[in-house]
Amino acid sequence: MKSLRMLGEGKVEVADRPKPTPKDDWAVVRIRASGICGSERNSYLEGAKYNSGHEACGEVVEVDSPSRVRVGQKVVLYAAIFCGSCPECLSGRAIMCRNAQWLDGYHAEYVALPERCLLPLPEDVAFDVGSLLGDALGTPYRAIKRLAVDSSHTVALFGLGPIGLSALTICKWAGARVIALEKNPMRVELGRELGADVVVDASKNDPLRSLIGLTDGEGADVAIDCTGNENAELAAIHCTRRGGKVAFVGENHGTIPISPSEDFLRKELTLIGSWYFALDDYPEMVKLVQSGLPLSRIITHRFPLDHAQEAYDLFMSGKTGKVVFEY
Ligand SMILES: [Zn+2]
Ligand SMILES: [Zn+2]
Repeated sequence: MKSLRMLGEGKVEVADRPKPTPKDDWAVVRIRASGICGSERNSYLEGAKYNSGHEACGEVVEVDSPSRVRVGQKVVLYAAIFCGSCPECLSGRAIMCRNAQWLDGYHAEYVALPERCLLPLPEDVAFDVGSLLGDALGTPYRAIKRLAVDSSHTVALFGLGPIGLSALTICKWAGARVIALEKNPMRVELGRELGADVVVDASKNDPLRSLIGLTDGEGADVAIDCTGNENAELAAIHCTRRGGKVAFVGENHGTIPISPSEDFLRKELTLIGSWYFALDDYPEMVKLVQSGLPLSRIITHRFPLDHAQEAYDLFMSGKTGKVVFEY
């Protein structure tokens, strides 16, 4: 079977590897769609020991001793192999599983996973949308749910990459006013097409000043950072009104200078970090796409796996929304 490896220095390879076999409660899934994620940038540049990809949807083709899934069933693949019995798993936050395993990636024709890591997908949800239900929808969905965004809110949304675009669709679905901030001209345009009330071109305008101006000096009710960029994170904190809420969704392994008194205590600001989704978020997300959330519109490019090099080069150039492999 074909599977994708990141060789580093921007080179990817579609190699022939043995097809996995089902064993015990592990099932084999034929992947039908898998998304490229911004978090693969490091592997793209530096190479990776394992195959790449963690956002996929497919159909079960082989099971050994099935108890939860059946052959032919549509499933979304959870990004981690979780144990199902540690405190985090039992609370639904399986991404934080104490015994998590991170195995071969999902940009492959077939993947084997324990049945518990396969989330059933209704027949009326397409495979490409299914591949977005993991990271692309799940990550912003969980954050926005915890922020309790509603139609009374003005949301400052930093970054319109795939996660930001997905966050935009959710916030608009919730009826909020969304002011998005983005530097990349193609993504500025995408944000407008997807219904942002205002998209500030952050390459030409100061984000903080723009946001204060666009909220009559009050600041946003909610800010969501999907960039992981220090300046955007600071602007997210500083643009939020007194009593407001901020979510960090973009990865940043560095540090940022903030004042606990000025930025938090005297503003009574709430800051949350949010990572992937919890298992109890999943049925809600399925209902959301079934009821018409225009999630598939964040996909701008589709490629067969054989065109992986072209797909990665284009995605890493920033001239795309979400890029999905279709099998
Ligand atoms: Zn991802
Ligand atoms: Zn666990």
